[in-house]
Amino acid sequence: MAVCPNCGYSKLLLTPLTCDGCRRVGCERCLGVYAYTYPVPGKPPVQHRVCSWVCFDRLATYNIGRGLTLAASGGAWYIGSYQLRPEAAQRAVRIQAEHYVLAERHEDAARLYETIGM
Ligand SMILES: [Zn+2]
Ligand SMILES: [Zn+2]
Repeated sequence: MAVCPNCGYSKLLLTPLTCDGCRRVGCERCLGVYAYTYPVPGKPPVQHRVCSWVCFDRLATYNIGRGLTLAASGGAWYIGSYQLRPEAAQRAVRIQAEHYVLAERHEDAARLYETIGM
């Protein structure tokens, strides 16, 4: 049996996973998927996980702060090549909009808020 160092979940063949935000090692149970990438067309997507929404927010703030922007395509939101799950997308859109407000790009912020119905 392998035991998760983060939540204590034990399972045969436990795959150690890492939080993209704080690099904490956890497992499939305590780390939630927030995005997918598709490095190889036709192959299953790669899952990207965080241990909490606090970590996700920090990660999104960091990425948006270094110049990545959110883009909507085919009904999904992307940040860079990461396809965000709906709840993560909502949070990232809000962070991006706040970033625009700080940069006094109020029209861009308003447009973003509109897309998520705020
Ligand atoms: Zn974390
Ligand atoms: Zn765990």
